[in-house]
Amino acid sequence: MNESDCIFCKIVRKEIPAREVAREADAVAFSDLNPKAPTHVLVIPARHAANLGDFASQASPHELGNLLALAAKVGREASPSGYRVVINEGLDAGQSVFHLHLHVLAGRALAWPPG
Ligand code: AMP
Repeated sequence: MNESDCIFCKIVRKEIPAREVAREADAVAFSDLNPKAPTHVLVIPARHAANLGDFASQASPHELGNLLALAAKVGREASPSGYRVVINEGLDAGQSVFHLHLHVLAGRALAWPPG
């Protein structure tokens, strides 16, 4: 998957619509199309990386930190009483879109552990 075909790169470039929650220089947050909780936002880096491992090896600590900080901001704004951040990497984890994304889930009691 390269950047021109990647659905999340298209959202970054505004070539396909998304319900954006936040946009920063190096990250975008938007609502998940198929929400698993009352709040389900995806936080993605603007630059393409297939997964967390790739991004961690390519991005600066500053970029990595910004991504996490944006997830925290979205989570806290959605629910001061708690939220969860999930990253799936690889088929065993159920990753289906191969552009790194942090799921921010909130708005209901979340079971632990996840399945
Ligand atoms: P994952 O299974 O961790 O790779 O999560 C991919 C997520 O992307 C799923 O929760 C999908 O519902 C979501 N998704 C796929 N396409 C879009 C889209 N165009 N806009 C918003 N969310 C999407």
